[in-house]
Amino acid sequence: MQYLLENIHRIYSPSVTHPHRIDLLAGDALLMAEGRIAAIGTAGELARAPGITRVSAEGGIVTPGFVDSHQHPLFGAHRHEEFEQRNQGSSYREIAAAGGGIRASVRSLRTATSEQLKTGLRKRWRECLDCGTTTFEGKSGYGLNLEQELRSLRLLGEVAAEEGFTVVRTLLAAHDVPDEYRERREDYISLIIEEILPAARQEGLADCTDIFCEEGVFSVEESRRILTASLDLGIPVRLHADQLSASGGARLAAELGALSADHLEQIDSAGIEALQKAGVIALLLPGSTCFLRMQQYAPARELIAAGCVTALATNLNPGSGMFVSLPLIMHLACLQLQLTSSEALWAATMGGARVLQLADRKGALTVGYDADLLVWDVREPAEIPYQPNIRPQQVWLSGRQVIRR
Ligand SMILES: [Zn+2]
Repeated sequence: MQYLLENIHRIYSPSVTHPHRIDLLAGDALLMAEGRIAAIGTAGELARAPGITRVSAEGGIVTPGFVDSHQHPLFGAHRHEEFEQRNQGSSYREIAAAGGGIRASVRSLRTATSEQLKTGLRKRWRECLDCGTTTFEGKSGYGLNLEQELRSLRLLGEVAAEEGFTVVRTLLAAHDVPDEYRERREDYISLIIEEILPAARQEGLADCTDIFCEEGVFSVEESRRILTASLDLGIPVRLHADQLSASGGARLAAELGALSADHLEQIDSAGIEALQKAGVIALLLPGSTCFLRMQQYAPARELIAAGCVTALATNLNPGSGMFVSLPLIMHLACLQLQLTSSEALWAATMGGARVLQLADRKGALTVGYDADLLVWDVREPAEIPYQPNIRPQQVWLSGRQVIRR
């Protein structure tokens, strides 16, 4: 099918080549064919193509769909009790030490049926779509054994295929050491390196490997071993880095040529310099900083001033942020990271696409790119992060209109 989206006030595209820049494109209409953007121009020119269906944007602006490049969306149960405990003064580390945190999610995921997990995932991803997310990343990391990690990756793929979503799947077996390996963590690291990674590779389930590199979780040395094993299998890597302490995660990300270093609340100047030199994307998750009631946000202005490229994501997960809306995350990024609205929009679209290695077809409005686009009832992009509860008027997914309000 060919659709002509017309009556567009303005078309804004993140620059493919210039980080953090939003370009205003010439034209008031956009032609979609075979799921891709076929042409951008004036309705007068583009309406001449035969057999097109015309759809009005009703004077709204058009942007690409959001690319949410950091999510833990598959889990068995909410952790609202921890939210209450933290608000009463407990820290994330204290809750984890008492058996809560990731270990609580491991217990609930392992006992949930696949149908239960898929139902929850489908609901959350539809909420994300409702807020304009059209491309997803999904991590495992609540299974923490061979069978459950692979099951998690399979379920992410199944729901994405059923819903028509693009998902990049990330193996996060190194999210924590499971209870049964507490006294023999070296055996768990061997299990990841010798069994889980090769099995995920063989089944084609992992596009990427991630790790929680943090004091008390996986050290820099352990992270180096696990991620090097992933790279040896041809699976690219990312890191949860410098979130709770300046543990050297960003420098390790640079050393390994990671796709991204995520969180970075505690990154130091050596870490910033290393990311810039290595071209590792600084992936910022201000929702979680807020949700965990941390005082220090990632130094986004220093990162950008140093020449780093940034991405923004929700970090949707039951323990440090039930966020489905990238407009809300952009709102927080403007308030707490001092990003401009253009920087925030770029980071939530093209920034995410770069992290997920999809920048040649997602995250911008360019002829040949996937027709994942949003129509907004506003006059300019700055109105999107300004209104954290905003929803797009129309969502187009691979050239199909899937939401119209
Ligand atoms: Zn995360």
